[in-house]
Amino acid sequence: MIAGLLPPVQVSTFIHMNDLPAPTTQLIDPFERMISYLRLSVTDRCDLRCRYCMSENMKFLPKKNLLSLSELERLCNCFISLGINKLRITGGEPLVRRNIMDFFKAMGRHVETGHLKELTLTTNGTQLEKYAQPLADIGIKRINVSLDTLDPAKFTHITRWGQLKQVRRGIDAARNAGIRIKINAVALKGFNEDEVFNIIEWCAQEDMALTWIEVMPMGELEEASRLSQFYSLADLRRKIETRYELIDTDERTGGPARYVRVAQTNQSIGFITPLSNNFCDSCNRIRVTCEGQLFMCLGQENNISLRDIMRQNTLNDDALIAAIKGAISNKPKSHSFDYSNDKIKGQMTRHMSHTGG
Ligand code: SAM
Ligand code: SF4
Repeated sequence: MIAGLLPPVQVSTFIHMNDLPAPTTQLIDPFERMISYLRLSVTDRCDLRCRYCMSENMKFLPKKNLLSLSELERLCNCFISLGINKLRITGGEPLVRRNIMDFFKAMGRHVETGHLKELTLTTNGTQLEKYAQPLADIGIKRINVSLDTLDPAKFTHITRWGQLKQVRRGIDAARNAGIRIKINAVALKGFNEDEVFNIIEWCAQEDMALTWIEVMPMGELEEASRLSQFYSLADLRRKIETRYELIDTDERTGGPARYVRVAQTNQSIGFITPLSNNFCDSCNRIRVTCEGQLFMCLGQENNISLRDIMRQNTLNDDALIAAIKGAISNKPKSHSFDYSNDKIKGQMTRHMSHTGG
């Protein structure tokens, strides 16, 4: 082609890593909640199939539907420019996504510059033995590891094929790399009710924080009803109080958990109680799925596709930023999960692994 006939060079005005300005705006929703926390699912795939999370024969999304690593980076840069300062990477299992460390490294640079106050992840721990040190090297200081039982056979049952020893090795590797661990345990009726004290005592011994979570009606399950799995954390707390004194604290991590201290061991225990006690008033978070859908609330269906906006607007981020601001101005007041009167209300069609827990 003759040089003079080349089309004019179009200058992309994406928000790039190197010229990311300090945020000048802040995302505030209609209920005066400042939105500063993004949970991002980087894949819907997982190497386990926890029975309360996925069906055995989960159909995963076609790869082309997922945000590419560069789209994930573009999106996060945009959110950070809008005042998001805490980023949690989740899934599916984030550490099974190919080349995910490239994305973590890119986000780690925002930790170095101070644009991100915290970069963290939620993982099932199966890949931690391999990734703990690289994660620590890019500035990750705390991670959540999901573990609902300390019994190897029960672990294999609940995850359908997982090996507890692999996760325990991953936890050890993370601690050796200097990463603080919080254990997330879903309270499940008839499954881990009898392990409440074992799990608490193990966390105290290993100096790890612990958060209990109520099972939420995310996605259909073929083999068990949510109601039969549901173990209220009000009941679980009463059980703990038969042995320990619990002191309520004002500790907040920007999430829905409320924390107590155990007087005898001084350890911290969190309770995420979307069903038995709704704490949406102080919600500061939004979620983006692995397909780029922005959900203003885990327990509501309304969302917008940031992926489509990004793919239609490849020259700059103006439309993307406008869409994010517009969505925040519609953030709902609360979720609608409800198990009262032995009926499930607020059931979401999508699984937790899609939105990212
Ligand atoms: N694979 C990673 C893991 O397991 O930590 C990250 C994704 S997983 C969906 C995130 C969290 O959601 C885990 O702690 C898991 O136990 C929790 N979870 C999954 N399905 C849930 C449900 N229906 N109700 C409550 N928590 C759920
Ligand atoms: Fe996988 Fe996490 Fe869901 Fe378990 S809870 S199936 S580890 S995504």
